[in-house]
Amino acid sequence: MKIKSAAFVISNSDVERCPKGKIPEYAFIGRSNVGKSSLINMLTSKKSLAKTSGRPGKTQLINHFIINQEWYLVDLPGYGYAKVSKSAKKVFQKFITQYFKFREQLVCAFVLVDIRHKPQPIDLEFMQYLGENGVPFCIIFTKADKLKPQAIENHVEDYKTVLLETWEDMPQYFITSSSKDIGKEEVLDFIGELNSN
Ligand code: GDP
Repeated sequence: MKIKSAAFVISNSDVERCPKGKIPEYAFIGRSNVGKSSLINMLTSKKSLAKTSGRPGKTQLINHFIINQEWYLVDLPGYGYAKVSKSAKKVFQKFITQYFKFREQLVCAFVLVDIRHKPQPIDLEFMQYLGENGVPFCIIFTKADKLKPQAIENHVEDYKTVLLETWEDMPQYFITSSSKDIGKEEVLDFIGELNSN
C-alpha cells in the first residue's frame, strides 16, 4: 500500500469521543520506548507525525490519524513505564480496556516488542488479555537493526516457544527497523489486504 496522505485527527482519553463511523482502524501499542512513534513515522513517511518520546510515558492519550482518507492509524499510550504513578496506571488501564472492549471499528492491534529482549511478562500478559477478549493482534518486532540476523531468528524462536505454550498458532509477526526502513511494506500491505476484505 502506498501512503498518499496521513494527518492527525484527534486525541482522546475517552473511547466514547473517538471518531464515529465505519472507517476501519488499526491500533499500535507497546511498552514505552519500544519505538512506536518511530515506527508510525516510518509507516507514514512523515518525520514527526507521532512525537518520538523524549519523556516516555507522557503520551497517555488515544491518538487517531487518518491515512489515505481510508483508515485510521491509532497510536495508543505506551504501557509499563515504571515512573508513571499508580493512579495514572489505573486511568490508563481503564481507558485502554474500554478502547479494546468497545471499539468496534478496530480491525487489528499491533503489539510492538523490542526484538533485543527475551519475552517479557508484561507483553505476554497484554497479548493474553487481547486474546481472551477476542481482539485480533499481530506482533511487530522493533529495532531489528540492533541485532544480527541469527540473533533475530533466535529471539523470534524464543517468542514462538513461549506463545505456543498458550496459543495454537504463532500470531502473524513483522520484523521492523525504523532506523533502516525495514518491514514497512510488509506491515502496510498487510493492512491493505485487511482493508480490501
Ligand atoms: P516510543 O516511546 O515507543 O514512541 O519510542 P520512540 O519511537 O520515541 O523511540 C524510543 C527510542 O528508541 C528513541 O531513542 C529512538 O531513536 C529509538 N528507536 C526507535 N526505533 C528504532 C529503530 O528501529 N532502531 C534503533 N536503533 N533505534 C530506534
